[in-house]
Amino acid sequence: MSVYDKYEVVIGLEVHCQLLTDSKIFSSAPTTFGAAPNTQVCEVDLGLPGALPVLNKQAVEFAIRAGLALGCEIRPTSQFARKNYFYPDLPKGYQISQHVHPICEHGSLTVELESLSRRVRVMRIHMEEDAGKSSHLEGKPVSLVDLNRAGVPLIEIVSEPDLRSSDEAVAYLKELHSIVVYLGVCDGNMEEGSFRCDANVSVRLHGQAELGTRAELKNINSFKFIKDAINYEVRRQIDLIEAGQKIVQETRLYNPNKGVTFSMRSKEESHDYRYFPEPDLPLLVIDSAWLERVRAAMPELPAKKRARFVEAYDLGAHDAEVLCASAPVADYFEAAIEGYAKNPKVLANWVINELLREVSGDQTIDTVPVRPPQLARLVELIDTGVLSGKLAKQVFEAMVESGQEADAIVEEKGLVQVSDEGAITQIIDEIFEQNPGQVSAFREGKTTLIGWFVGQVMKQSRGKANPQIVNDLLRAKLEGQ
Ligand code: ADP
Ligand code: MG
Repeated sequence: MSVYDKYEVVIGLEVHCQLLTDSKIFSSAPTTFGAAPNTQVCEVDLGLPGALPVLNKQAVEFAIRAGLALGCEIRPTSQFARKNYFYPDLPKGYQISQHVHPICEHGSLTVELESLSRRVRVMRIHMEEDAGKSSHLEGKPVSLVDLNRAGVPLIEIVSEPDLRSSDEAVAYLKELHSIVVYLGVCDGNMEEGSFRCDANVSVRLHGQAELGTRAELKNINSFKFIKDAINYEVRRQIDLIEAGQKIVQETRLYNPNKGVTFSMRSKEESHDYRYFPEPDLPLLVIDSAWLERVRAAMPELPAKKRARFVEAYDLGAHDAEVLCASAPVADYFEAAIEGYAKNPKVLANWVINELLREVSGDQTIDTVPVRPPQLARLVELIDTGVLSGKLAKQVFEAMVESGQEADAIVEEKGLVQVSDEGAITQIIDEIFEQNPGQVSAFREGKTTLIGWFVGQVMKQSRGKANPQIVNDLLRAKLEGQ
């Protein structure tokens, strides 16, 4: 047993999601990403004296949606608070957040891993504004501040320390990511920082009741980095403890190039922020009519959709997972099912193995030239024996290129599978005539030659012969005489 096995890993995640509103959380300035610096700002975002915040209703509805999806209680009244700290990218000198009374509390998310399922409690979801962005120019004594992001609405989803490994943390994040994207509340773009995570990590001896001292790993924006950063941090902490040292509570950053975490600052305590209720905003009151309106508009969530796909279409768990990872892909699949419902499994294979391969870069599932009814027809042609799998791939490629219907391509290129026994027998006879040595070798016991014969027939028929019939006829002829 390695020394690392003596310890249990404990992780709690704080996930920030930028909400997909057109305007900011407390002002009407636009939230467009990638615009020229400091063009998406107004007096409120700049913190000019006398400018007052007005809460964005859409942002509230998005927060409620996230709360409902995670089984949270939605508070009838919640309250904004000032979190005071001075940073150049926060011109007001405080961030408007929620503190004592967040909009959502006490939810949970169950994640399924290969060998276990883990219910992770969601402590709270609160609303807050994003800060601007500082850039420190290398080699120059200046820093630049872009306030376009200042005031972009965020929800922060805070888990209890219920996760027990980096794999669990990643599974939780992936499920959460899928949920907020399904809900339409966040675009989920991790590279642009729309979905980012702070990981709180500690270790303790197995069986120990109290939690160990944690380090908070800040702002990690890829699933791989999360896993690597946690794994590094766990080892670092265990090594320190084993060397008789103490873990200090601190905020650390992850350097993906070096694969290490390093100390950024000692962890601030809540009192450092001098929280107090935001006097410029009234209590946020959500009545039951509003709550029910939002609830009624909730889409089907990934876990439910996966279960339904397994049940209704008899798919394996893995296929259901791939199809349901994105709502547009799941919708594509179901639209294709409407076109041909007899073989969902083969249809699922085609979506997963062929269609999704075409989806990359600018090409999305909604723009690939092969539309659901067209893929449905292709699968029908396979299912009814008109096309072999191999021919179908050729047809599919032509469909992607030309956007034509499968039938038109089959017709034009003469790709119909040959199932006529007479025609296939004729080819077989020719091959036997040209290769008497192989025929007798087979009959003397070298039965593995069957593959070679099948290959010859397929070649002769330019891939069009029905492989099953070729096999049956070959065996009958070779073994029968
Ligand atoms: P803070 O207000 O300092 O950020 P919170 O109590 O809100 O602290 O917790 C922040 C996050 O840290 C939560 O996700 C929580 O689950 C996690 N956390 C708290 N204590 C530990 C610990 N000892 N080990 C790992 N994670 C922890
Ligand atoms: Mg916190």
